[in-house]
Amino acid sequence: MSGRRSPGRRLATLRAGVGLARARWTGRRRPVVVSWAVTHRCNLRCAYCDVPDRPLADLPTPRALDLIDQMAVAGTRAVSFNGGEPLMREDIGALVDRCGRRGMAVSLSTNGVLLERHLPLLDRLSSLQLSVDGPREVHEALRGPGSWQPLPRAAAAARERGVPLVLSAVLARHNVDAVDDLVDLASAWGARLSVLPVGPVHAHSVDLEELYPPVDRMRAALARLADRAREGAPVLGSPSSFAYLAAWPDAPPIPCLAGRGLAKLSADGRLFPCAILEHRTAGSNALDRGFAAAFDALAGDPLRCGGCHCTKTLQLNRLLFDPVAALPYRVRARIPGGRAR
Ligand code: SF4
Ligand code: SF4
Repeated sequence: MSGRRSPGRRLATLRAGVGLARARWTGRRRPVVVSWAVTHRCNLRCAYCDVPDRPLADLPTPRALDLIDQMAVAGTRAVSFNGGEPLMREDIGALVDRCGRRGMAVSLSTNGVLLERHLPLLDRLSSLQLSVDGPREVHEALRGPGSWQPLPRAAAAARERGVPLVLSAVLARHNVDAVDDLVDLASAWGARLSVLPVGPVHAHSVDLEELYPPVDRMRAALARLADRAREGAPVLGSPSSFAYLAAWPDAPPIPCLAGRGLAKLSADGRLFPCAILEHRTAGSNALDRGFAAAFDALAGDPLRCGGCHCTKTLQLNRLLFDPVAALPYRVRARIPGGRAR
């Protein structure tokens, strides 16, 4: 068992926060936080996701490492590895290590199936995101038989190694009534819960209408999550972000740092403002142009965006653009007289 999260990783996370605040307040564009789908390969086939059905060749290791070096020069302070399943890449440890050596905070999103083989990686992460969609039956109805079994051990390993753990749930028709189970699971596993209403982040061609729950049930589930957060449960969010989510499925335009402080890198080396706009814009090729020039080219992106329900980005944006109302519930609870509203 390893110790608590190292001061170096805390510092890296802090530097990412400062970098985003700078991008917000000075208007200077920098790719401070990069979400990187390092592979489209995956060992699961979840009902709401078609990423593995859109095969893209992984970047060879030397090119991926070179991109990390370029990111560091361009001002990237945090990288979030996702996919596909990022642990399908045999070189994921080398990529994480290079980011760490470049002073970046590193988080990784995984379905947990392969984590047992990569336990030493946990010592190098600033946070781990584990995909969980509900108790076993609910989870496996969406993610396939056997997909639940590795999760309790994965959560325990993160806890033992002192890595902050976030359970990421996609809320769809099948699990919309299971939000209390998810909150309880997060509490039991020493994690925080992040819930993302099903939408175009994972899917390009899946019939999402089939997966959407009735509007009243989704809104009731989101309201219930806000209540649990207000009561002190470990749910990511704030009055500001839950107020926005309450209008689901509407997603009105909202201030966002995508393309200014945040960027999405695809498995084949193209850069986009965010994961949703990957489906709506051509992006800019970081392999051909170089990372910094590709990011600069996003300045001309028309950002065909009317807002979104991407919960983690939403909460981050609300913190930057509406800081008082976006203080997380768990922080508000610690402020005398600042109990959540
Ligand atoms: S949601 Fe994640 S685990 Fe599921 S198929 Fe898509 S990439 Fe794989
Ligand atoms: S609001 Fe959402 S879809 Fe729009 S640019 Fe930001 S992250 Fe992308």
